[in-house]
Amino acid sequence: MLYSIRMRAAKGGAHELGGTHISGAERLVTKEELSKIAEKMIWRALHHSKGVADFISLKIDEIKPEDIQTIPCLSIKNFNANSVNEGLQKARELLVNHGISPIAINKGLTELKALARNMRGAILLDATTGKRLDPDHEKGVRVTHMDALDSEKLQQHLERQGLTNIHVREALILASKVLSAPGVLAELCWSDDPDYIAGYVSYGNTYHRISQLKEMHSPIGGRLFFVEPNADVDKLIHYLSTQTVLVDIEEV
Ligand code: AMP
Repeated sequence: MLYSIRMRAAKGGAHELGGTHISGAERLVTKEELSKIAEKMIWRALHHSKGVADFISLKIDEIKPEDIQTIPCLSIKNFNANSVNEGLQKARELLVNHGISPIAINKGLTELKALARNMRGAILLDATTGKRLDPDHEKGVRVTHMDALDSEKLQQHLERQGLTNIHVREALILASKVLSAPGVLAELCWSDDPDYIAGYVSYGNTYHRISQLKEMHSPIGGRLFFVEPNADVDKLIHYLSTQTVLVDIEEV
């Protein structure tokens, strides 16, 4: 049996009471691993470059084996950008080549750059018109219930490519789930961690890691999911926020 364990931490009170988001993490683990992982998550909330959390929520749910789907892991391509502008230009180029309209890309980037504080979830945009599709513009859509099918193997796979940062592991799993969702065409992301300036564009079966998408020390990050016109948005949000998936590295 697997358990979903999810942590979110904030400073200045709980998120719903206006606290600033510090850290979030989630795993799908066995009963034996739960305590060790819980301890690691609490440590992470209390030792973050964004500050020491004064609110930590840990949620654990048992997941029935029949409710778990296995999906393929995205393969990784790296692009070295010498500046934020070069990184953003590459991101635009990749998205346009994959059929996302320049209007939608511009609208999405404008939304991200205008953020005064971090959202908990992603912004959903119609890939043609750029119309915003997530019902709660403050929260966005949070993707949950995902992990690697074989954590060790994924770790080794990333290490072989010189990618040892925890951000890549987590983002690759999240991005794999996002692209397996009905109606998602592409994603763009940069982290809210002030020390982490890399980001990615993903589509098809590839995660294009771009070494610089934001300025060092910037505490604001964000995610854009570009959605097929006429997609069933309720079904999509339900999948992203509730379906348990395990990402299989064997299928890269
Ligand atoms: P991170 O890559 O964890 O630094 O997150 C960057 C941004 O992506 C955050 O500021 C949120 O806006 C968004 N985000 C983080 N985690 C999730 C998630 N699980 N689902 C959807 N959006 C997320």
